[in-house]
Amino acid sequence: MIELTLTELAAWSIGASMILVVFFSWISRWSNANAERRSLRRKVTCRLCLFVVEDETRDRIFQCPHCGAQNVRGRNRSLG
Ligand SMILES: [Zn+2]
Repeated sequence: MIELTLTELAAWSIGASMILVVFFSWISRWSNANAERRSLRRKVTCRLCLFVVEDETRDRIFQCPHCGAQNVRGRNRSLG
């Protein structure tokens, strides 16, 4: 049988609860960052009118619902 003094028991329980709090806050931050990254990936900005829309499709070219312009998704630095 494990013999613990009251001080050791208190120290262990406080230490374990602190580890649990740190662990769950890390999980929460990680899942929050994941959701934010996913949401940012879906957002597309129209190059003509700067209208921001969440687009669920995976098409390379999307049409702006505001002005109807064709936009290329992703990092497109062309000037045309
Ligand atoms: Zn537009």
